[in-house]
Order: sequence, then C-alpha cells, then structure tokens
Amino acid sequence: MMTLKEKVVVITGASSGIGEATALMLAERGAKVVLGARRADRLQDLSKRIAAAGGEAIYAATDVTQRADLSRLVTLARERYGKVDVLLSNAGIAPISLLDELRVEDWEAMIDVNVRGLLYGIAAALPVFRQQGFGHFVNIASTAGLVTTPTMAVYSATKFAVRAISEGLRQEAGPHLRVTIVSPGFVQTGLANSMTNSETKAQIADKMSEIAISPDAIARAIVFAIDQPPEVDVNEMIIRPTVQR
Ligand code: NDP
Repeated sequence: MMTLKEKVVVITGASSGIGEATALMLAERGAKVVLGARRADRLQDLSKRIAAAGGEAIYAATDVTQRADLSRLVTLARERYGKVDVLLSNAGIAPISLLDELRVEDWEAMIDVNVRGLLYGIAAALPVFRQQGFGHFVNIASTAGLVTTPTMAVYSATKFAVRAISEGLRQEAGPHLRVTIVSPGFVQTGLANSMTNSETKAQIADKMSEIAISPDAIARAIVFAIDQPPEVDVNEMIIRPTVQR
C-alpha cells in the first residue's frame, strides 16, 4: 500500500489558510508538496519552513485564472518528482456582497478563481493522471456549496459548481482515479481579506473570530482522504464548527 510518504501533492492556494496548513501537515508526514499561489514570497517562506523541519517542498508563482500557470505547476511536479499523486484545488476567493450592489467585477473574479481555476487544474492534471493510471483530485468547496444565504449568492454558486464538476469528474473518472470534495464551514484563515465590501468583511471577520475552527481541522480531513488505500475513494466531507448552524 502506498503511504503518504511516497506521494507528490500539488496544492493551489498554498500561501495561506487551509492550503498552507495542509502543505505543512502533508510535508510533516513525508509527502512531497508542490506549492502554487500568486504570492511567491509567502510560498518561498513556507518552503523554507518545510525544509527546515525535514520535509520536501518546491513552489511556483501560480495564478489559477491562467491556464498556462496550472500546466506549469503540474509539469514542475512531474519533472522534479516523476509523477503527481494528488491535485488539491484549494485556491479560492470570497468577495461576497448583496446582488443589489452590482459588484460585477467581484462576481467575475469569483467565477474566474473558484470555477475556472478548478477547471484549469483539471485540464492540467487529468491527462497526466490518465497516463499514469492513478491520481486523486481533492477539491475544496464550502458549506456555501450546500446552501446559500444573502450576500453569498455568487460565491455559493461557484461552490455549487465545484461540487457539480467534482461529482461529474468522479462519475467519469473510472476505476483508477479518485475524487474528493471537502466542504469546510467557518475556518480561521485570510479569506475575509478577499472581501471588498468593508461592512461585510468586518462582519465575517467577527464571525470568524467567534466561531471559526482551525485550518488544521480541514488539513486533517484532506490527509485522511489522501491516505486511504487506492481502492477507497472518500467522495465528500463536510467539516464545520460544532456551533455553526
Ligand atoms: P485564504 O485567503 O487564507 O487562502 C486562499 C488561498 O487562495 C491563498 O493562498 C491565495 O493565495 C489563493 N488564491 C486566491 N486567488 C488566487 C489565484 N488567482 N491564483 C492562485 N491562488 C489564489 O483562505 P482559505 O484558506 O479559507 O481558502 C481556501 C479555500 O477554502 C477557498 O477555496 C475557500 O473558498 C474555501 N473555504 C474557506 C472557508 C473559510 O471559512 N475560511 C469556508 C469554506 C470554504 P495568493 O493570494 O497568494 O494567490
């Protein structure tokens, strides 16, 4: 049975929050992590921390709205380590607001990062997984991908899309590829920084400090899914604070 130790995991949105926590946890357990995000300085710092703790990490500045960036990230992993076991599509933004505000650019940005970015990752990794005869997509959705609330319409729509695309991918994947959807509830991360409406941003930041759980809780779930034997496909997990409705 393959263990985490031999696995190569490509992570988008690895520069903070859930992606960073998962990179650290995977590397601590012996996986080789390939980090992507736009803030290369943070990726460099994270790679150094992982190496200092005895782990193995490489990184590349990656904007998931650019298809070529994702191809480059997957190619980097293959060139350096000879294979890709897992693509963790985690990059996401949440500039939420009421539809009446007509923040159309924010709507477009959420679609570009949360949906197009996921699809570009699939486009980069799927042919590689097919050629290898193995591979695991782990896609980060949200509890907002299960239900929606005011201000969340577009963000929710992108996360419903993440779940729909992932389920379609799972059905088409065949017996050798795995697909996992992870839907977090409130998690203490930098996500509020992507919010452009200052009132909503303050409300979400307050709610985060009140009820949010640690990104390690999500990282543990991702590690669990990756660490299963190849014939076991953990398809969907919802992890939220006990106090979250
Ligand atoms: P963070 O803001 O801490 O992390 C988001 C990550 O996405 C960052 O590393 C950021 O890196 C990256 N990112 C954003 N835009 C791009 C882009 N265009 N290209 C590449 N990377 C990008 O928030 P979280 O850790 O919370 O977010 C991770 C995922 O979890 C997201 O998909 C989010 O929707 C989801 N989620 C979060 C919840 C929460 O309560 N925190 C709840 C449910 C789901 P950089 O800016 O350097 O590019």
